[in-house]
Amino acid sequence: MQVQKYSDLNNKIILVTGGSRGIGKALCQALAINGAHVVFNYRGDVQKANELKQHFESLGGKATALPFDVTDSTKAKQELEAFSKEFGAISGLVNNAGISKDQLVLKLKEEDVSAILDTNLKSAIMLTSILSRGFLRAPSVSVVNISSVVGLMGNASQVAYSASKAGLLGLTKSFAKEMGSREVRCNAVCPGFIQTDMTEALDDKVKEAYLTEIPLNRFGKVEEVANLVCFLLSSASSYITGEVIKIDGGLYI
Ligand code: NAP
Repeated sequence: MQVQKYSDLNNKIILVTGGSRGIGKALCQALAINGAHVVFNYRGDVQKANELKQHFESLGGKATALPFDVTDSTKAKQELEAFSKEFGAISGLVNNAGISKDQLVLKLKEEDVSAILDTNLKSAIMLTSILSRGFLRAPSVSVVNISSVVGLMGNASQVAYSASKAGLLGLTKSFAKEMGSREVRCNAVCPGFIQTDMTEALDDKVKEAYLTEIPLNRFGKVEEVANLVCFLLSSASSYITGEVIKIDGGLYI
């Protein structure tokens, strides 16, 4: 699949959380092809982070790997402040890192609920807040939150996950209202079933059941989500803010 090109993404500094795999990695690749300076965080594996950095730079642009877990906002703040001192203000943020732990509501474990909300929702709120001061000085800022169709329609066995993804929509709309006058935009993307490690882990029966509900009769590709997010990060979407855009093959019509 072809990566869409947006000339204003060239040299734009954009933080993508969860860039090591799946949708986040495809997005970092698409941004690198667009010549952006891609900043991504990683947990633990320095060698893998260096390999990813080299891979993204081989596609174009520049890449920086920052060592922080998204749930550790103190470390994230330290790393991001040091980065901005050296390279300047970040003008794009994609809150993409996420986890799912499907469980019937009767069997919910409190530690799993906390992990899901901290990773998927609280981290996005904190990173948005940490970067906000820099956003005031940066040109054409765009924030994209990776929510999910289940944040809109709910899903059995995903009470905490759906709640975290619905919470991102509140963040998106409130931040868009608060920062619009400073030329900072914020939108949410709601993927349906996209082929990644996260969905690969699902039972075959669950996958078949999803497929029967998708009018386009196939699962989505990470590159399709990456292209949509690049559009929202670019000035091609300059009059779009506070919007929630589904990319789900029609799963939730
Ligand atoms: P994935 O393949 O499981 O990748 C998840 C990414 O998030 C990895 O890079 C992972 O890093 C990172 N991550 C998780 N917890 C983290 C933490 N505490 N700190 C730092 N990084 C962390 O997931 P995906 O399918 O690409 O999903 C990406 C986003 O899209 C998620 O928010 C997901 O909820 C959303 N989404 C996906 C689908 C789908 O069908 N795939 C549908 C709707 C929404 P490590 O490599 O270190 O684990």
